[in-house]
Amino acid sequence: MGPKRTPDQIKTKFETRFDKKPNGCWEWNWTLFWDGYGVFYADIDGCKHVRAHRVSYALYVGPISKDLKILHKCNNSKCVNPDHLYMGTHADNMRDLRDAGSLKGENNPNFGIVCTEEKKIKISKGVIKQLKERREDGTSDRPN
Ligand SMILES: [Zn+2]
Repeated sequence: MGPKRTPDQIKTKFETRFDKKPNGCWEWNWTLFWDGYGVFYADIDGCKHVRAHRVSYALYVGPISKDLKILHKCNNSKCVNPDHLYMGTHADNMRDLRDAGSLKGENNPNFGIVCTEEKKIKISKGVIKQLKERREDGTSDRPN
């Protein structure tokens, strides 16, 4: 990763990697994950981020509470405009985006705890497990 960058250095680099669109979205013009989110590695306030929209939130809004997701109001996964992002839970995301905005951070038991490298590794393992399960599902060991 090289020497640790300051938030200003991270921001300067970050701002070369999206285009501001007429609709207000800041669309990522760099590498994307398989699920459509921008790739950007940054260590901000001791929290290691890998997704561009989370980096944007951490840079322009503030630290992200542990176990909370950064969601899009604009439903554009490539968008990194902090005005189009808000914090919510995975359940919010899956259930109903209208209700997600009502989550009050201070009522969440994890409020104020920022994510860690360990958390990132757990997420990665979880994703790998999901992918394995998906691959195994519907392939074999099924009764006729
Ligand atoms: Zn947007």
